Amino acid sequence: MKSLMWHKTEENMICDICDICGNNTAKKRKVTRNYGTGKELIVIEDTPVINSTHCGESYFTAETLHEIERIKLHKDGFTTQKSVPVASYA
Ligand SMILES: [Zn+2]
Repeated sequence: MKSLMWHKTEENMICDICDICGNNTAKKRKVTRNYGTGKELIVIEDTPVINSTHCGESYFTAETLHEIERIKLHKDGFTTQKSVPVASYA
């Protein structure tokens, strides 16, 4: 998977080539996602996701997926206890 070169201007206003359809309509935004269930449930806030307005696909970059795995493996060091463990990306 190629890594995207973001033209850093303003958050949420960045367009780049979509990995799925190849159009210059991919935008980065931030989402909150749940992972796991029960005791293993973890909520990661502000995870950057790439969303293509052309094909409608959303996906994480390889770098983001790697970071999510790292947070999950070490979640005790990343989380603050709310009703469920919540971590912030980066
Ligand atoms: Zn696309």
